[in-house]
Amino acid sequence: MTFLFFASGKLCGRSHSLNLAVNRKYMNKATSHFKNASAKDWQDWRWQFKNRVTKIESLDKLLGKTGLDKDSFKSLTAIYPLAITPYYLSLIKSCNESDPVFMQSVPCLREISLSGKMPEDPLEEDTHMPVPKLIHRYSDRCLAIVTENCAVYCRHCNRKRFWSRPNPTSLKARFREMVRYIAASPQIREVIISGGDPLILDDTVLEKFLSSLKAIKHVDVIRIGSRIPVVMPMRITKELCRMLKRYRPLWFNTQFNHPVEITPEAARACNMLQEAGIPVSNQSVLLKDVNDSLETMKNLLNGLQKISVRPYYLFHCDAARGCAHFRTDPQSSIALMEEIWQQCSGLCLPQYVLDVPGSAGKIPLNVLSKTIKNDLKKHKHFFDKFQ
Ligand code: SF4
Repeated sequence: MTFLFFASGKLCGRSHSLNLAVNRKYMNKATSHFKNASAKDWQDWRWQFKNRVTKIESLDKLLGKTGLDKDSFKSLTAIYPLAITPYYLSLIKSCNESDPVFMQSVPCLREISLSGKMPEDPLEEDTHMPVPKLIHRYSDRCLAIVTENCAVYCRHCNRKRFWSRPNPTSLKARFREMVRYIAASPQIREVIISGGDPLILDDTVLEKFLSSLKAIKHVDVIRIGSRIPVVMPMRITKELCRMLKRYRPLWFNTQFNHPVEITPEAARACNMLQEAGIPVSNQSVLLKDVNDSLETMKNLLNGLQKISVRPYYLFHCDAARGCAHFRTDPQSSIALMEEIWQQCSGLCLPQYVLDVPGSAGKIPLNVLSKTIKNDLKKHKHFFDKFQ
């Protein structure tokens, strides 16, 4: 099998750039299960989707000894299923929790043992659903959950409640109700299409929804929220970009959480969207033992700037059931961000926010920074004029 992409990032504490030899070694180990696949298969998103790893038996085979107990693993995945694309799997370098891709994609028992009492819906989104799966939290925009499925089920996902159980509503009925509600709500000027991952839908299905939205006069802007460039970048095809281009102004938000995810394949996917006139921004989540170190976060933000993806938000991990082990300590998170604010160019800086229920929305956490508080004190005579 020929691998057409190379990962980049850190290996054994040393920087390695696009080194074919190193990466072939790791990819062969993780993806030998797919040895009969052709290079063409590998680049085909439908092949990637169809060949997702969804069972522990396949994981064991693919990743060697993971040390996972099969019975507990099965009870866990009965609640929160497993799905990893061969591509994303190939980015795993070590089969343990020191690996950021492993951490984000391989189920961990702490998902059920640590956060049983936490709410499934920490942002109370379900209380803002005028029609099934349409969240209308802020007056001028709404969020349409167009599918519960994803290419990869991210272990830190704050919407696990959607993909942890099947949804019986037909897509057609769901779209019809959403479009009817949006058309009758002139205050809505922006529609965010999310999920699940909307890009696992076929172009024709997606286009039907986009064209219905475009036909509503008061909808000025459409936004797509998708992790596809990170977990299955081959889904970004010329045909998809050509179709999306027709629905501009269209904004695209994705979620890179670690620099090893910024591969040439992922960069190519973002670039194709940008060349179609679609701005790409990033919304990371601050995740314990994944990206909560100064070096990793700096490499992530600088790496995004290098591929012209704007770091937009960095979310403090929500208190969602199944995610407790990813939550960072607020004090050290602020301290980390203070370092980032001092060391990174403004163009690399996302807004570090905590999302809270209700219309207050995302609260910027930089106001809690000691440095900012001290600066405000130091220049009190100046800032007093703003009150
Ligand atoms: S792709 Fe998005 S919705 Fe799906 S599991 Fe990952 S974070 Fe959650």
